[in-house]
Amino acid sequence: MSYNALYRKYRPSRFGEVVGQEHITEVLKNQIRSGRFAHAYLFSGSRGTGKTSTARILARAINCLDPQDGEPCLKCEACLKNLSESIDVIELDAASNSGVDQMRSIIEKSEFAPINLKTKIYIIDEAHMLSRSAENALLKTLEEPPEHVVFILATTEPQALAATILSRCQRYEFKRLSVENLANTTRKILKDAGAEIEDGALMAIARAAEGGMRDCLSIADQCLSLCGENITEADALSVLGSVNSDILFDFADAVINGDQASIMVGIDRIVSSGRDLGVFIQDISTHFRSLLFAKVLGNCADMIDCTSEMMQRYIVQADTTGKARLERTLMALMKLQQELKFAIMPRVLLESTLLAVCHPEERAEAINLTDRLEQLEQKLKNGSFVSVSAVKRADDTEAQNERMGEKREEIIEKGEPVPPVVPNSYEIPAASSKANELYNGFMSAAMQNDMFLGMQIQASAAHWCDSDTLYICFDKSKALAYNTVIAPSMKSKLQSIAAMSIAPFGVEVIFREGSVTVNPELPSELFGVKITEEE
Ligand SMILES: [Zn+2]
Repeated sequence: MSYNALYRKYRPSRFGEVVGQEHITEVLKNQIRSGRFAHAYLFSGSRGTGKTSTARILARAINCLDPQDGEPCLKCEACLKNLSESIDVIELDAASNSGVDQMRSIIEKSEFAPINLKTKIYIIDEAHMLSRSAENALLKTLEEPPEHVVFILATTEPQALAATILSRCQRYEFKRLSVENLANTTRKILKDAGAEIEDGALMAIARAAEGGMRDCLSIADQCLSLCGENITEADALSVLGSVNSDILFDFADAVINGDQASIMVGIDRIVSSGRDLGVFIQDISTHFRSLLFAKVLGNCADMIDCTSEMMQRYIVQADTTGKARLERTLMALMKLQQELKFAIMPRVLLESTLLAVCHPEERAEAINLTDRLEQLEQKLKNGSFVSVSAVKRADDTEAQNERMGEKREEIIEKGEPVPPVVPNSYEIPAASSKANELYNGFMSAAMQNDMFLGMQIQASAAHWCDSDTLYICFDKSKALAYNTVIAPSMKSKLQSIAAMSIAPFGVEVIFREGSVTVNPELPSELFGVKITEEE
């Protein structure tokens, strides 16, 4: 059964209706207003974020006889021609045609003038799957594009495209949508379709969609067809195979307190209620990730996509344990997710993993020791037993907060060496394959050494290298992650991670005052059209 009814019915037909991609649609509208557009576009981004819809709108707008303020009028002869019927708008799915030579000949035919419309438009979906011969034909056309042709390539994997093709396209990166964006749009669409949905259900669906509008509406569709036109939270959770958040909080309590009996009973309930264990492990992993973020950053509802009420609950629960316990649990769950694919008895694997997490004393690694100390300290804090070291705990907490709250300005005040800042005009060098190799090696060591630090580094915008240093650059949109990474307490950690993973190379963290969004390989002009940098 296909569940794409809502998505098809509510496909946007104007730029203004594309949700969450204003940084792209505004630039495209400007091009339509000025009548100056490129001959090749590359839309990249994860699935269901609006690439193909935007490509179709762009195709219509370019051909519209009477564009209205950058939008297609939807009334003229050209707009009324259904895109899929027009022989001048050619949609190709490289994923299904990649082996077929036909693709090459279709692209080669682009030199013939359009028949009904002003401009012939090729929309190539999953462009990274093009066969070598089709790619060559495309490249040849892009080298000297005929005046009447526009190519729009859409892909989830831009890095898999040949650099020679990338450099001839105007590139636009489609963002994953925020939970709020997804929830608001889905609510509007469901209302329009005559259905009601509870807030809890809406949030659960939006979170499960992981930033894709299409997935979000497909899940909503499934709920509609299974539960009727009044979707409750319980309905949505059962469609998703998820459990409600109270169960996750209770379960996390059991893990944090090392309450083995409750863990076993909890797992038994999940299994006997017929829930998918894989979904549950994902849910509980996400839960521990949220707790770790709450522990280190405090209020960060934007970063973990949750309501402020939920954020408070995370903060309260995170306060009952130490960072090491959260990190160890999260690491164990991540490892478990990989092992799960090959596990014969996934339930036993989950049980043994979580029981091991509860017993840091049985393993000798440093993080386990930290975890044990933190558990003891927590008992002190709760007054479970009293000792003179309780005073020390207070000092430690203060020192820890101070370390975490370290900001660039404070470092400057203290006279510590400050990581460099480059102005927005600084041209970020392209990441060479050497730089990628260094970055990947460094990242995986960072994730193993300190998962939280690794996650912050993942937020960086660019990386490059010279003969002895890997540079990792953050832009202004990730100032929070940058401030965490440059805290003095992290400095020696970064260097030791570099020493163990990428020596003899060192690592240097850099901050860019503006944003890093445009591929540095791009020329500033293409086919006589100036490229506008996104703001
Ligand atoms: Zn029109």
